[in-house]
Amino acid sequence: KDQNGNEFFTKPKVTFEDVAGLDEVKEELIEVIDFIKKSEKYKKMGAKIPKGILFYGPPGTGKTLLASAVAGETKSAFFSASGSEFVEKYVGVGAKRIRTLFEKAKKEAPSVIFIDEIDAIGAKRHLDSNNEKDQTLNQLLVELDGFNTDQTVVVVGATNRLDLLDEALLRPGRFDRHMYIGNPNIKAREEILKVHTKNKPLSPDISIETLAKKTHGMSGAHLSNIANEAAIIAVRENNTIITHRHFDLAIERVIAGLQVKNPNVL
Ligand code: ATP
Repeated sequence: KDQNGNEFFTKPKVTFEDVAGLDEVKEELIEVIDFIKKSEKYKKMGAKIPKGILFYGPPGTGKTLLASAVAGETKSAFFSASGSEFVEKYVGVGAKRIRTLFEKAKKEAPSVIFIDEIDAIGAKRHLDSNNEKDQTLNQLLVELDGFNTDQTVVVVGATNRLDLLDEALLRPGRFDRHMYIGNPNIKAREEILKVHTKNKPLSPDISIETLAKKTHGMSGAHLSNIANEAAIIAVRENNTIITHRHFDLAIERVIAGLQVKNPNVL
């Protein structure tokens, strides 16, 4: 356990079925899953298991969800961290945390380490390369280079901004597989809405197809929010089922929320 009493890792039950759309990315990840599941076979053949995968793209599109699904599919220990957790005032503290994280992941292998907002530690280094951030990034590079083929540890980094990352991080043998996770198209929005309404009592007047049309530009996180808001509105109105009108109100609410944050969106 960490200082806050939280478990360092979980064993997620999430699988690819919980991730809607993103078919091409899932297909690429099936290969990684096979590496983790049958690591012995690959090792015997002298093949190197990929170490680092980078998910990039806009927020709320399922990067965290996908990474935990990789752990779920392979029954791996899932270590989830955010890059900003490693940004510290005192030199060496962030680096030490990185070391501890990898030590534990190796001990629990097979493991998936997920580092969200990896740009917080992996941004391009400056020439006077001796500050706390650079030490943390250097430690991450050391860890990525360091673990050998006996340990099945896959590191997944996520960022909204691939262009901010230090090239050293993207070199072969480090985060060398880059997968773009974009906002869902109409078909994917339909599938995401299906996932998030699966356990909700829907009125027959609801057309998921229409809802998908009405939610152009929205992310998976927005759609999951809309499904939840619609259910809340239905409860407030003392209904036993969710109707299309509840969804319309929920969509309005989510759009209003977006416009507060960024008036130019949608
Ligand atoms: P961030 O960049 O902000 O960290 P993210 O890309 O990691 O975002 P997630 O945290 O994985 O996004 O997504 C948030 C929630 O949105 C998920 O827990 C899930 O409920 C829903 N969601 C997003 N994408 C999908 C998807 N493709 N299928 C099903 N649910 C999704």
